[in-house]
Amino acid sequence: MDKGLNDMKKPVRRVVIAGGGTAGWMAAACISKVLGKQLDIRLVESDEIGTVGVGEATIPTLLNFHNLLEINEQEFMAETKATFKLGISFENWRDVNQDYIHSFGLTGTDHWTAGFQHFWHKGRERGLASDYGDYCLELRASQQNKFAHLPHNGMNYAYHLDASAYARYLRKFSERFGVQRIEGKIVDVTTSALTGQIRSITLDSGVDIEGDLFIDCTGFRALLIGQALKVAYQDWSQWLFNDSAAALQTASVGDAVPLTRSIAHPFGWQWRIPLQHRVGNGIVFSSRHVEQDQALAALMGNIAGEPLMKPRVIKFTPGQRTQVWKGNCVAVGLSSGFLEPIESTSIHLIQRSIIRLMQMFPTDGIVQADVDEFNAQSSHEVEHIRDFIILHYKVNNRVEPYWQAARDMQVPASLQHRIDLFRETGRVFRVPNELFAENSWIQVMLGQGIMPLRHHQTADLMGDAELSHFLGAIKGQIDKTVAGLPAHQAYVERYCGVPK
Ligand code: FAD
Repeated sequence: MDKGLNDMKKPVRRVVIAGGGTAGWMAAACISKVLGKQLDIRLVESDEIGTVGVGEATIPTLLNFHNLLEINEQEFMAETKATFKLGISFENWRDVNQDYIHSFGLTGTDHWTAGFQHFWHKGRERGLASDYGDYCLELRASQQNKFAHLPHNGMNYAYHLDASAYARYLRKFSERFGVQRIEGKIVDVTTSALTGQIRSITLDSGVDIEGDLFIDCTGFRALLIGQALKVAYQDWSQWLFNDSAAALQTASVGDAVPLTRSIAHPFGWQWRIPLQHRVGNGIVFSSRHVEQDQALAALMGNIAGEPLMKPRVIKFTPGQRTQVWKGNCVAVGLSSGFLEPIESTSIHLIQRSIIRLMQMFPTDGIVQADVDEFNAQSSHEVEHIRDFIILHYKVNNRVEPYWQAARDMQVPASLQHRIDLFRETGRVFRVPNELFAENSWIQVMLGQGIMPLRHHQTADLMGDAELSHFLGAIKGQIDKTVAGLPAHQAYVERYCGVPK
């Protein structure tokens, strides 16, 4: 057996996590919770370099991750000053002064032959239906700034959280399970000339840290997967124009809403993420379409509270590494790729990579078939999310050059097919294992302005009276539930917060 195969077959006992942002500490928490007794886990981070400092809106899958780690929700929310999130409010996206909400949860009730959108479409034609969103509990609750945990997980939600506090929280968690944190700057990565595997990383103190498995969580720098192993980066900027962001924290004014606000601008969009103690703000823009100063001025001109810092500019290339696992290095987080934050999918992808790694953990040595499977699953997952994000840009009625160019671009065939199918038939099919379910695609397609030309004939089997009763009963039940919910702000204060 040659030396290369021997290296791959080496049992994994020493795990080195390079980087301690959200990705690094989520990886440390999960690996240590499950395998902390068997492994030596070290995490290297540099206070001087710091983290990207954004990434504060999540999606409901984070609850699954926390369940796996047996994290107490009240404790986690108190420590990360978190609030609840029921969806994203898209303002001015389809066109100026036209808004919609992409909410979590389901809308209406499906028939096995046809989704609820077909019945709603028929109801709309007959003048019997109101807005599509009126048939979704989470959406109606978010519009009225209300929230409560409901029995049987009756309310689908996620969190807005303080990213730095989250990393601190997970650090404490991981250290309880034996993770050793090492402060220092990585200045070199040594690979074996024979096998190409990483042998060690060297810190500015001169210390060498050897490992069997390296997890690259060094953010956009991608010190291991990119700089040392030279794994190529697939650039998707032909579809995703945004390559820059500026982030800024402001004081809270008013109650925290259970929605991420996403406000479109002529050259990008702006976010507002309400936490218990402050609001996270930022603008995401295309440097091909606007000067940085102009984008910053647009951000500063549209914030509600006192700025707590100067805006921090972040540059990125939308895309994905061609391999996220190579040899004995797995890239997790921004080192593996970044689309853009419009649907808050990055933390979800971190979580998916970690869970996938746990499922294929190479305790007895790395198996190339696992590596190939890991890479294939990762790229399919990201491609579906990429398509969903591109949809937000492709379908719009805005007049500015940025939006016109987005409308005119040729999108991936997989996305064009979904758009055509929905426009022609009202049908949406979820691809196995894809993140966004039918209701997400429908809300965004309708919200951006695609109205199907027809509906499924099952909806025509209902007469007007029956359809009206069907739609009215769903809406009536939702209105009744929402009327009984407390205000989101009051609920957060009682559940996990400090009263204002
Ligand atoms: P980082 O936070 O950059 O951490 C990198 C770590 O590596 C740090 O600890 C750093 O000190 C360390 N490091 C780097 N170089 C060295 C070195 N030489 N030596 C030692 N240590 C080193 N995601 C969401 O899910 N929701 C959102 O709302 C969202 N919004 C975003 C908005 C913007 C503008 C951007 C750019 C991203 C957003 N993301 C969002 C993505 C999210 O921020 C990241 O996925 C998440 O923070 C994880 O980042 P990371 O840990 O990979 O990298």
